[in-house]
Amino acid sequence: MAIGGLAFSALCRDAKLKRKVTRVLMVSTPLLLCLFAWNRGEQAGEFAFLLPFLMLITFLNLRNTRFCDACGATQYSRGVSRPRHCSRCGASLS
Ligand SMILES: [Zn+2]
Repeated sequence: MAIGGLAFSALCRDAKLKRKVTRVLMVSTPLLLCLFAWNRGEQAGEFAFLLPFLMLITFLNLRNTRFCDACGATQYSRGVSRPRHCSRCGASLS
């Protein structure tokens, strides 16, 4: 799933499609992780520890990943600020 997501991100140039697919993947991946943990018999206390981290990571990923409408590049930010300009073509990311 991760390899497919990376290949899609690198090869697709349609920013709208990338936006939709990436949002679905960013939300479904932690849900699948929770289902996997639940299937393995993890206890409620472990979920209580895991869920806030998963929610925070999902929120930050959704917030800090942007797509350039001009060239289709995916822009990530590792900090708390969102990328404002495309690192590939310099276009403003609105
Ligand atoms: Zn660009």
